[in-house]
Amino acid sequence: MLNSPSDASFKFMPNTSLCCLPKIAVVMARLKVRGEDFGVVPFLMPLHEDGHLRSGVRVTEIGYKPGFGLDNCITSFDNVSIPYESMLSEGILSLKQEDGTVTLHEESSRKRFLMAMQRVQFGKVCMAVGGLGVGKASLYITSKYGKRRKTFSVEGDVPLVRYHSFSNQLVEYAAGVIVQSFWAFDLGLQAFEYESKRGSIPERLKTEIAISKSLTTWFARDVVVKCRELCGAQGMFSMNKFPGYYAMVNGCITAEGDNLVIMQKAARDLLSTSPELPDRPESPQVADLFDILKENYLSLHSRVGSLLSVKEKSDYFSLWNKASEDMMDMLKSLGAMYAACSAEKSLRNENHHLFLVEIYLLDCIEKLSASMAFQGSVSLDSLRSLQSRKGRLVSERRSEILDLIDQFGLDKVGLKTPISHGDYVEWYSRQHNEGVESARQ
Ligand SMILES: Cc1cc2nc3c(=O)[nH]c(=O)nc-3n(C[C@H](O)[C@H](O)[C@H](O)COP(=O)(O)OP(=O)(O)OC[C@H]3O[C@@H](n4cnc5c(N)ncnc54)[C@H](O)[C@@H]3O)c2cc1C
Repeated sequence: MLNSPSDASFKFMPNTSLCCLPKIAVVMARLKVRGEDFGVVPFLMPLHEDGHLRSGVRVTEIGYKPGFGLDNCITSFDNVSIPYESMLSEGILSLKQEDGTVTLHEESSRKRFLMAMQRVQFGKVCMAVGGLGVGKASLYITSKYGKRRKTFSVEGDVPLVRYHSFSNQLVEYAAGVIVQSFWAFDLGLQAFEYESKRGSIPERLKTEIAISKSLTTWFARDVVVKCRELCGAQGMFSMNKFPGYYAMVNGCITAEGDNLVIMQKAARDLLSTSPELPDRPESPQVADLFDILKENYLSLHSRVGSLLSVKEKSDYFSLWNKASEDMMDMLKSLGAMYAACSAEKSLRNENHHLFLVEIYLLDCIEKLSASMAFQGSVSLDSLRSLQSRKGRLVSERRSEILDLIDQFGLDKVGLKTPISHGDYVEWYSRQHNEGVESARQ
């Protein structure tokens, strides 16, 4: 029998649907046999029968959630019978149908829970990929708009992209989106290989997936917000896509584990072991930047680690709060190293594209410069010269990266908007004239 024992156990947010579409849920529920609790186990559960919700399944609409196609709901269960075969506990525990004997295949209840939750790792990778996809689409639309929209200059009217205040942002964000896409792709492959060959994903990889999901989706949100702004008022209209993208990328930040929460878990796991680092990239123009981030990571790991190494449990929470910003910088340094390594491995043979990794790492270092200066891991003079190096590189590679952004538009139909396709002035004037015509009729 499946039951929601209290109001707090009603599930908020699943995509369980009010309509008659037959849905199948995977419900995470505590397995209790004759009063004994064996922890949380997944159960496969058809929610509908003959076009209606099954008896005992209650689904209620939460309310309007702008920008989403998903019908998220509140869902609860009242004495719903589920067959024995619905329990998805292979490798975790087995339940003998005849007499209810439970055999644990893993003694630690925490480990059993993490095994039951393993599928969420793939969900996290999907959030990262989805977020980066939204980032690429935003850059594509914005770059097209920037090439068409003319504005004044001392040389006469010029397209917006001729202004570096416009195009440098596209260039820097595009480098970040491309590098992090290699990372997300690499993590998806690694997780798939581990699961299919060994049945489980190592903790080290789960930590990296959590860091990647958080850093990529936060980055993608920055891209959407900035691209909206770069498209002016046009960026505010649904037909130009940004309002929908903004809602979607926020969903990626929260779903499959809120970013901040999974980052804190990743920090805790990393701090409980001696630091493990990705291999140093082979390419010299990337390796020196990797070393700077490594230095910052190690310095923060040691600083936060010693701050939290208190004997008294009562002090731990306030120290945790005190260390939380350093923890985030520690993970940002490590995440940038991981992302750069994945991209460098893939681009090593096409040496001419390594500048993307270089720009990404220089950008990460710039964002972490306050932390680095404070740690003393990099001098102020070095930070200034790294900033100039980034400026030079962005200038040299601007047109190449703008060309790469054009290739983000593989799905031309999905990205069709008035400001990214054809002449938007002509599009708006047509709407306007048709509007005048229909008002006359
Ligand atoms: C689009 C979408 C689809 C979803 N689909 C599903 C689904 O199909 N099935 C399903 O089961 N769930 C689903 N969810 C739910 C999702 O898993 C949760 O929303 C998510 O885990 C965050 O939990 P919460 O909403 O309760 O936020 P809260 O936990 O209330 O978080 C609120 C804020 O508090 C902060 N916070 C919370 N805990 C801590 C902590 N320990 N330390 C520091 N800060 C903290 C967070 O960073 C966040 O900013 C979906 C969510 C979204 C947005």
